Amino acid sequence: MPATIIDGAALAAEVKRDAKRRVQELTAAGRPVHLTAILVGSTAAGELYASRQAEACRAAGISYDLLPLPAETSFAEVAGTIRCLNNEPSVTGIMLHLPLPPHLDATEVQYLIDPVKDVEGVNPANIGYVVYGHTLIAPCTAQATIELIRSTGVTIRGAEAVVVGASEIVGKPVALLLAEQMATVTLCHIATRDLKLHTQRADILVVAVGKAGLITADHVKEGAVIIDIGINRVTLPDGTKKTVGDVDFEAVRQKVAYITPVPGGVGPMTVAMLLKNTLRSAELGLKR
Ligand code: NAD
Repeated sequence: MPATIIDGAALAAEVKRDAKRRVQELTAAGRPVHLTAILVGSTAAGELYASRQAEACRAAGISYDLLPLPAETSFAEVAGTIRCLNNEPSVTGIMLHLPLPPHLDATEVQYLIDPVKDVEGVNPANIGYVVYGHTLIAPCTAQATIELIRSTGVTIRGAEAVVVGASEIVGKPVALLLAEQMATVTLCHIATRDLKLHTQRADILVVAVGKAGLITADHVKEGAVIIDIGINRVTLPDGTKKTVGDVDFEAVRQKVAYITPVPGGVGPMTVAMLLKNTLRSAELGLKR
């Protein structure tokens, strides 16, 4: 029987509904939730992403403002801006659009965001809290992955979990969160010698590489849960363009128990997690 397709959009809608209800309660209590996004150097893609984000925040009752800074802004100026936002009580959450212009180091800048206001969970301190099992705010895509796995009802504790892709922002945090849930975790990357050897024994397989067709039916175990994080634009034989993940969806779904589609899986859930984190930042701020 083909796999159950995990409906990320429907699950995201539920998360957004819950977040909206709580945001309304906070607002009514005189504690509005406010996200400030910093965009250094304007690009069409950056502006588009920011406008979508603004819309998602508005729909959840979160006030949002975009702080555009010129591409040539120095590190000291960006740092000064972040320090002001850290100290501004009406700003409950801060996020930084990537990529930054080449003269700015993303990690150095992210390190400056107050961990409590760090709605993307990208400050190294927040990754550290995950390692020590005291998660404050986890990276959005990694959290989305865990929520999607949980939605299947499959037990994470004791499961063989294989994560393909080991970036700081996606693969490694996913592996850490799975380990926190007591899965037995293998983290594969470009230097992994025999990828199939690992993926074939995965009860839970998470793929975050950015290579269409990397995972075929041969790579997966029957009955597995597959979370496809990859996003690739491919050109079909008829010349039309299509967005696909890293997994050969049609072939793999015949063999596994659950699979996320691309689009409509991890993507919408990641946006929902950003809103959930923004709410969490505001609530953590109240405890100070
Ligand atoms: P990245 O380029 O930073 O990291 C890619 C990782 O894949 C690296 O660890 C690399 O070692 C590994 N890799 C490369 N080739 C491999 C191979 N042949 N076998 C095994 N491992 C290999 O990418 P990233 O930022 O982690 O993003 C990964 C993908 O996830 C991209 O397609 C990106 O667009 C997508 N993404 C999706 C969302 C979402 O919300 N759905 C969010 C973030 C990233």
